[in-house]
Amino acid sequence: MIRFEHVSKRYEDGTTAVDDLSFEVAAGELVTLVGPSGCGKTTTMKMVNRLIEPTAGHIFLDGEDISGIDPVELRRRIGYVIQQVGLFPHKSVLDNTATVPHLLGWKKAKARARAAELLDLVGLDPSVYGDRYPEQLSGGQRQRVGVARALAADPPVLLMDEPFGAVDPVVRERLQSEFLRLQAAVHKTVLFVTHDIEEAVRLGDRMAVYGAGRIEQFDTPSTVLGAP
Ligand code: ADP
Ligand code: ADP
Repeated sequence: MIRFEHVSKRYEDGTTAVDDLSFEVAAGELVTLVGPSGCGKTTTMKMVNRLIEPTAGHIFLDGEDISGIDPVELRRRIGYVIQQVGLFPHKSVLDNTATVPHLLGWKKAKARARAAELLDLVGLDPSVYGDRYPEQLSGGQRQRVGVARALAADPPVLLMDEPFGAVDPVVRERLQSEFLRLQAAVHKTVLFVTHDIEEAVRLGDRMAVYGAGRIEQFDTPSTVLGAP
């Protein structure tokens, strides 16, 4: 589903963030990207949805070189969730969730119905939370809205960049469990960045373990943990 072929990214100041990455992620697979700060995880993710362009190599989505895919089309195919989910403060939870369908030109009623369904799926009753505003939610609830919003257009691929990194450990565990349940239902192809090794082990079908700019190990959690 996602394939990197000899992908490198050198920023304008000369920093090589990612150096000759090649890997493949299967459809429906959840791969965690784990490693210390600054090793290139976020850069890897942002190249998948073309927020950043590689300086060398090619990235394929379902066999298609993404450099030829229109960014709006990429938004439909790739959901993106980050640590501080940027919800629109003046939009209700329901309207925040309906953002992408709205951008894609769905009829308002259809977009809102879809948004309500998604809020339900992430554990937020739309009849209770739909009309609230982001500031009336807890941190954990805001992250749930972020996940719902990313799923709204039913993209096959999800990019999650430390989505549960800013909530306290108890809430994080709950969000992880809920996300595992959700993933078992929706089978997205997921790249999930975390610097929390326990989270990576718990969630990942496979883990990509980064050293500076490179993936040093790419295997199942049990193999990675069992490695000498
Ligand atoms: P991680 O997500 O693993 O923390 P990043 O992908 O954010 O790592 O960063 C990888 C490297 O690239 C780091 O050395 C970082 O400082 C550098 N970097 C990230 N963004 C930029 C940028 N816009 N310009 C220059 N260097 C950058
Ligand atoms: P979660 O475990 O989902 O992160 P919290 O324990 O942080 O939730 O919050 C518990 C309850 O308090 C939630 O039902 C949430 O709606 C409510 N709450 C949290 N922050 C606010 C706020 N700023 N305004 C109104 N209600 C809030």
